[in-house]
Amino acid sequence: MTNDFLNTPIEYLKGVGPKRAELLKAELGISTFAHLLVYFPFRYVDRSEFLPIGEISANTPLVQVKGKLIALQQMGTGRSKRMVGYIQDDTSVLELVWFQGLKWIQQKLKINKEYVAFGKPTEFNGKMNMAHPEIEDIKSFRENAVKGIQPVYNVTEKLRKNFINPKVLAKITHYLVELARGKVPETLPSYLVEDTNLVSLEEAFINIHHPESHDKLRQASRRLKFDELFHIQLRNVKLKKRRNIEYNGYLFPEIGQSFNQFYKHHLPFELTGAQKRVIKEIRSDLNAGKQMNRLLQGDVGSGKTMVALMIALIAMDNGYQTAFMAPTETLAIQHYNTIEKFLKDMPVEVRLLTGSTKNGERQEIAEGLDNGAIQILIGTHALLEERVKFKNLGFVVIDEQHRFGVAQRARMWKKNLLPPHILVMTATPIPRSLAMTLYGDMDYSVIDELPPGRKPVRTIHFTERNRLRLFGFIRQQIKSGQQVFVVYPLIEESRSLDLNNLMEGYESIVREFPLPDYRVSIVHGKMNPADKDREMQRFVKGDTQIMVSTTVIEVGVDIPNASVMVIENAERFGLSQLHQLRGRVGRGADQSYCILVTKEKYSTEAAKRIKTMVDTTDGFRIAKADLEIRGPGEMDGTRQSGIADLKIADLSTDGELITLARNKAEEILRADPSLEKPQNQVLWAIINTQSSGKINWSDII
Ligand code: ADP
Ligand code: MG
Repeated sequence: MTNDFLNTPIEYLKGVGPKRAELLKAELGISTFAHLLVYFPFRYVDRSEFLPIGEISANTPLVQVKGKLIALQQMGTGRSKRMVGYIQDDTSVLELVWFQGLKWIQQKLKINKEYVAFGKPTEFNGKMNMAHPEIEDIKSFRENAVKGIQPVYNVTEKLRKNFINPKVLAKITHYLVELARGKVPETLPSYLVEDTNLVSLEEAFINIHHPESHDKLRQASRRLKFDELFHIQLRNVKLKKRRNIEYNGYLFPEIGQSFNQFYKHHLPFELTGAQKRVIKEIRSDLNAGKQMNRLLQGDVGSGKTMVALMIALIAMDNGYQTAFMAPTETLAIQHYNTIEKFLKDMPVEVRLLTGSTKNGERQEIAEGLDNGAIQILIGTHALLEERVKFKNLGFVVIDEQHRFGVAQRARMWKKNLLPPHILVMTATPIPRSLAMTLYGDMDYSVIDELPPGRKPVRTIHFTERNRLRLFGFIRQQIKSGQQVFVVYPLIEESRSLDLNNLMEGYESIVREFPLPDYRVSIVHGKMNPADKDREMQRFVKGDTQIMVSTTVIEVGVDIPNASVMVIENAERFGLSQLHQLRGRVGRGADQSYCILVTKEKYSTEAAKRIKTMVDTTDGFRIAKADLEIRGPGEMDGTRQSGIADLKIADLSTDGELITLARNKAEEILRADPSLEKPQNQVLWAIINTQSSGKINWSDII
């Protein structure tokens, strides 16, 4: 926004000047008042209260105490020379220690006077003490500005060296927020501020930097988080609406022969409630005359593919073709086989197109697509190529969203006169709040129910020490006719180490499970594809009972007879990877097991991951835990989208505020689609300066 005050160069702020201005710009990108206003503290130090000394413990963070100095003496010699003081309040006595500036301390402090001491308490020999506290007599404390809740800012090494430390920055921001009174324009319509119980932006800026109280700080933070989230949502919803206005979509009004025949005679099971609900949601899109852009989330095995297939049959009943795109050849083949099997007695032409499709077959497929003989085309990225042309493409299914970019999605749009309906399916569950932000311009459906009869996989944690028990368990499972996966990690950086690890593991398994009673397969990334495939097939057919592999099976074949998934070095896997691996078992009717094997010692983060896995099989709970452990910056897709750069809102903890922001954005755009009402002027102005998916505070204020 254009605003003279906010655009004032930072050098004109008291305490800055040209030299510091240059440094602030180079180090922190701060060149105007606005930039500094949105340079939020990363934490606060509470100097608004005094803690009774008796309540201090080893895990108390920074504290402030008030009391009488009852003794002060120099102790030790040489390097252990130190000044020790004792400060006493009604509850107890605290030891204060200085190793430097002894002389100065001795001159400054007087016995029997009242002081305020501030610092980090630590425990030493069973007693609490505080080293190098900030200390001030009560009189100068009362007169001095440093009290209340103090902001702490991040500064760089270079800034520190040039005497711009967090305290100096706190002083500078203090001048700024004082100046800012009466000069910060609102970024939200006043009715919205009122409806949502927010404080004004000005008040928020003042209190985020120099809070008057905890309550004011909380309100300030809520307001600023809301701004950030609301403007993302406003943009998402606007984008979605604009697409709805600009792009008409094909109508699929018919529920015809293909669908009905399949539903009545071929569908081998009852659909789950969640599947039915999602099909309804999709159908309402298909009858709206607008292009559908829908994200379908559902855990591994929740039956997404079946939903997609049934929509493909509706497309066919209405004279449209379907393209079904998977991220890898293995997955494309698997989808092809599954769909072929389901449709085997139906007059539907399904073909597979991948990078390894031979030219002759390609030619045939091209003809079939062109004359409409092929109704469903399944494949990989190969489908995106320009030479792949359809007679009348109406429906596109994209499996595993995160491997395809937005630009690739858009290439499918151009394969017909109107853009076809798009259904993006992902088995990586992400919390709704994150989905709303990352894929906020899409509609969202979720299959939150597994087909009946599935027994949840039991997850057990073993350490190296329990290996004999583990082998015994495997033996017993194999005896009762089951097959077993044993998976090793493979991390790019330690490829050769990991490979050694895998080979060693393989050898010990072969030793433990010898011929002729047992047969063991091995698959890893260094093998040539033909060998890999042969080994895989041996396991699929049941010729071998144990499959030792790296995570190549992560996205892979279905083997209902495999009931045990052993994950070695489980402490090295991420949560979503563990969850995907576990999803490989539990497909059949028997009780399945996932066994996480770790060393005796591992990080606290690894411990949290293991505990989550043992506690739950619910993909959404796992995703939530993952988000909490790793933070949103590490989640799939967040990097590219820039969402990880949020300044103040936190996607893992601000779910409620995200929902509120989303609802308000929808409400406002429903009532005023082009934001032309006078009360929405301010929003119109902001959205027109926003240039990318990234939220930019300099666009907001
Ligand atoms: P996803 O694609 O979500 O991983 P799939 O569609 O591949 O799941 O389904 C997993 C397995 O469950 C398949 O073997 C499928 O045939 C079966 N399945 C799907 N829906 C149901 C249902 N409603 N009842 C029983 N089995 C189902
Ligand atoms: Mg699937």
